[in-house]
Amino acid sequence: MTMCLFCKISAGEIPANKLYEDDEVMAFHDIHPKAPVHFLIIPKKHIDSLFTATADDQAILGKLLLLAPKLAKEQGLADGFQTRVHTGPAGGQEVYHIHLHVLGQPA
Ligand code: AMP
Repeated sequence: MTMCLFCKISAGEIPANKLYEDDEVMAFHDIHPKAPVHFLIIPKKHIDSLFTATADDQAILGKLLLLAPKLAKEQGLADGFQTRVHTGPAGGQEVYHIHLHVLGQPA
């Protein structure tokens, strides 16, 4: 079975500028940042998008959200940040492995 880009990153097959990793999730800087700080948080489990996420994914999706403020503060975004989840073609999704964008400007 072919792995998607973010599965390859989480498996260490493609390098990424990593911020955080544990057995379930990984965070790395976006390769084309749209803000001074722009990183992505992904589950290691492959989930295409919010359209295909199920109740079984509830805990891991919550984990992505709860990790965002912790990592954002570590990146200098203690005053606030934006989160985005692009879903489907009309939502601007390019990589079909669910991910949370975290963007901001350090104070
Ligand atoms: P989207 O699917 O629209 O939410 O966006 C996918 C994001 O992944 C874009 O912001 C890309 O710049 C980013 N991206 C694509 N390839 C890589 C990579 N190899 N390492 C880090 N970020 C990437």
